[in-house]
Amino acid sequence: MENFIPKLKKLKKISLLLLLLPSLTLANIIIENTPIPGGIAVLDFDSNKSNPRAFYKSRPLFTQHIDGEHWQALLGIPLWQKMGKIAITIKDFSTRTLVVDMKNHQYEEQHITLKGDKKKYVNPNAKYIQRINKERPILSKARVVFSTKILADELFIRPVDGITTSPFGLKRFYNGEPRRAHTGLDYAGDIGTKIKAPAAGKIILTGNFFFNGNAIFIDHGQGLISVYIHTHKILVKQGQMVKQGDIIGTIGQSGRATGPHLHWGVYLNGIAINPNLLLENQER
Ligand SMILES: [Zn+2]
Repeated sequence: MENFIPKLKKLKKISLLLLLLPSLTLANIIIENTPIPGGIAVLDFDSNKSNPRAFYKSRPLFTQHIDGEHWQALLGIPLWQKMGKIAITIKDFSTRTLVVDMKNHQYEEQHITLKGDKKKYVNPNAKYIQRINKERPILSKARVVFSTKILADELFIRPVDGITTSPFGLKRFYNGEPRRAHTGLDYAGDIGTKIKAPAAGKIILTGNFFFNGNAIFIDHGQGLISVYIHTHKILVKQGQMVKQGDIIGTIGQSGRATGPHLHWGVYLNGIAINPNLLLENQER
């Protein structure tokens, strides 16, 4: 009988390894190739290295294992990207280049009127500009966080059930003045409506900011970050781990918002992309 004990221990170790392996090696985010401004280019490649890396310029890209020697890199493409080709570098035992052929896409215009106290968001005064300048590096830093481990274990679910009031990519004008395009998508909802985490991740930033109001940032790993702005209540803390469906906050109208809604943004390699592309049931 004594002989069996070490064998059993070994078996336990093996089954524990098998349990751990899928989440570490198999692909989680299988999406369609959308090489348009604000889209995601999906680049398939082969590698027999256990951790090949992909880069755009010097920025690391989301890289996932499909099966065997098949790997995939996801590139978030900026809304301001011009037509043409984008070169991606793959690094394993050697260095190779993959090329993305851009496709055109036209986004619509949106004209927004801000009244009363909300007018301060069109042309902020010196005091607000000081605040904006102080907040900008905090927000940009959170958008480019790159953690090696993929935390999102599946495609995204919608953070709220409301209807989309403002799609991604709209060219925006505030009180007639051109401003940055809409880098997320808006869902209508009453103040206090619960917001769910669309996938597992880590809360990397929460706080109140001039334009964003009460904001929550989730890191899903490998440069995939989701953000929730204009919220009423923030129900999570920095450093907290969340699972898909966990309540992270509630809908509000804090910051530059004309009414209660959730602005949902998704960043990939630091670039705002259309959140719909990551949804399990796409609504494009
Ligand atoms: Zn928005």
